[in-house]
Amino acid sequence: MVDYIGVSDVTRLIQALGPGEFIERLAGEILADYRRWAEFEKSARLASHSAVGVIELMPTSDGRRYSFKYVNGHPKNTARGLLTVTAFGVLADVDTGYPLLLSELTVTTALRTAAMSALAARFLARPESRVMALIGNGAQSEFQAIAFHRMLGIREIRLFDVDPIASAKLERNLRTLAALEGLVVKRAASTSEACRGADIVTTVTADKRNAVILTPPMLAAGMHLNAVGGDCPGKTELHPDVLAMPDVRVIVEYEPQSRIEGEIQQVAADYPVTEFARIAAGETPGRRSPAEITVFDSVGFALEDFSALRFLHLLLEEERIERRRIDLVPRLEDPKDLFGGTLGAGGLRRRLRKSA
Ligand code: NAD
Repeated sequence: MVDYIGVSDVTRLIQALGPGEFIERLAGEILADYRRWAEFEKSARLASHSAVGVIELMPTSDGRRYSFKYVNGHPKNTARGLLTVTAFGVLADVDTGYPLLLSELTVTTALRTAAMSALAARFLARPESRVMALIGNGAQSEFQAIAFHRMLGIREIRLFDVDPIASAKLERNLRTLAALEGLVVKRAASTSEACRGADIVTTVTADKRNAVILTPPMLAAGMHLNAVGGDCPGKTELHPDVLAMPDVRVIVEYEPQSRIEGEIQQVAADYPVTEFARIAAGETPGRRSPAEITVFDSVGFALEDFSALRFLHLLLEEERIERRRIDLVPRLEDPKDLFGGTLGAGGLRRRLRKSA
């Protein structure tokens, strides 16, 4: 039997733990995995593109465990009452090849993306950062707000979305958090207004094109940009001139994948970038000066989903999640008798009689 974690299980877990606590613990797991970067099998994800979206498979392994995530990105889905991003994944045992866990990853992807964003920002944003602009107020946005509030000490969030209903939803959802922990939430009339005076700018918009969410005049010395929404060929958020600014330094997850999918798809193949793993391992510094403009060119890497599945599996073993199992793999007395152990001689006789 294979362990199964559904949406309701993750929801119950997060309600019990609190989303901030879950995100912070998951960020710790992601950091631990990035610090053993060399142990992981790495490849750019396998993408199947259509005119309206993409479906991707994201595999990796550390030699002991193997994982993959199925994930889609369909920006027009929300107009049909569907999510832009859905996901599920599997954690398996490398020794036997047997799957150990099948889990929902839609909610978990939002949590892990926020955990990764805040983790990168801990190394890259100025430590005194307190104000964040949050551009794109859809499904991922609350998770980003919670992560930056919890892990970076962000005290003021400025919201902007071309869809005012999305911003109203985010403001409503954050109100409880604001009341509890003193977070100030302000609506801005434009991206420029939201960015003015912000220490960190998170862009988490969805549009399958080279969108121009941020341009150089919106930026100031010392800002940290957390560019989450551009994650596919032909789907970016930063004007290419942002990447050409002299004080800009770009940090990526896995360079070969980011060259295809990240903001840096817009620049030459030798444009200099730093992989986050090198910063995590202390091989190269995070922020190098107060004036540097750091860009975390986030696309989402398989290692982060590996960490999330490993963390969920650990919580299952710690009995923080109620154990549910599904019969995804046959259990046989004689592993060479798949036919007899599943269809069975009796079942076969009945079927043969019926077809006679
Ligand atoms: P969503 O569709 O729920 O929300 C996106 C929001 O962006 C919408 O409210 C939309 O109105 C807004 N938007 C679109 N164009 C805009 C613009 N020009 N200015 C301001 N707002 C704009 O999508 P979501 O699930 O929140 O995902 C957001 C993006 O993040 C997607 O592009 C998705 O592919 C990406 N994503 C990245 C990662 C990662 O690891 N980097 C992980 C998950 C999702």
